[in-house]
Amino acid sequence: MRKLLVAGNWKMHMLNHEAVSLARQLKVRSLGLHRVGLVLFPPFTALTAVAEILNDSDLQLGAQNLHDRRSGAFTGEVSGEMVRSAGGSWVLIGHSERRQFFGDTDAWVNLKVHAALEAGLRPMLCVGESLEERQAGRLQEVLGRQLAEGLKGLTAASATELALAYEPVWAIGTGVVATPEQAQEAHALLRGMVAELLGMDAAQRLSILYGGSVKPDNARLLMGMPDIDGALVGGASLKADDFVAIAQAADGVVK
Ligand code: PEP
Repeated sequence: MRKLLVAGNWKMHMLNHEAVSLARQLKVRSLGLHRVGLVLFPPFTALTAVAEILNDSDLQLGAQNLHDRRSGAFTGEVSGEMVRSAGGSWVLIGHSERRQFFGDTDAWVNLKVHAALEAGLRPMLCVGESLEERQAGRLQEVLGRQLAEGLKGLTAASATELALAYEPVWAIGTGVVATPEQAQEAHALLRGMVAELLGMDAAQRLSILYGGSVKPDNARLLMGMPDIDGALVGGASLKADDFVAIAQAADGVVK
């Protein structure tokens, strides 16, 4: 049985005192949830402070991005090793906002996946199509390209630490959520592609999270689908009540 994962992407929100307060609430309120893994992705500036709160808990911590190089003259960037030293064990890679606004290409995403693994971080690779791509019938092509390029050079063994997040761009921050059937279709496609790229065993072990307007009232149905192994939550992860409700929904899903 695969443990579901629920991750909160705090994006560019949360001053340090707010991050600490939210992390404290989540730590206490998630104590009884043993059948779901929880990961928090605060902004870089709050990583250390949140790490101190989560220290003696099961909640995991990650960064929202990393640079592909280990160190150097890259002003404003953060390496995988730095994320590790701040207490992170995960890193989001290829979020659509990075692809859209900060020039993260498939090739760079691939370098970042390798850099994360080399630094001992678990990459959560985000993929997803735009509305235009979906309407043009290009779902399979777009996901296939993002996945094949993003995972280039990985072996089944190196992929054990990887998770995927299917995040249709049209559902992110829009309040428009994919139907469970639409999400399941994309997840099954992705799992099939991973089976071709890395083998059936890796595909079956891989967690594929759905992201895009997940809320307490739609979480259970989405995560009840056979190939949906959890949720990557943006807006609703900023409110303790909502994030805990989504985590509880995941904890209640038995697969
Ligand atoms: C995200 O940005 O990863 C996300 C899923 O955002 P939201 O839940 O706000 O749509």
